[in-house]
Amino acid sequence: MWQRDSRRFFTKKQRRTAYLNHDGRCAKCSEYLTQGFHMHHLRRWADGGQTELDNSSPLCERCHKDIDK
Ligand SMILES: [Zn+2]
Ligand SMILES: [Zn+2]
Repeated sequence: MWQRDSRRFFTKKQRRTAYLNHDGRCAKCSEYLTQGFHMHHLRRWADGGQTELDNSSPLCERCHKDIDK
């Protein structure tokens, strides 16, 4: 049976890769990301979205608040 990835949180390595892929900037507003930037699930984890880079974008705290209410 197909099993969904049960990890909710991205690994340090995934965060680092996403960060580098976006030149250290927020995927939405292009502000420079701080250390505590948010790895956002494009398809919500609660809706079955995977914890994979394909399904993620790094966001600054402000943008993330706008998206995930
Ligand atoms: Zn932003
Ligand atoms: Zn999010």
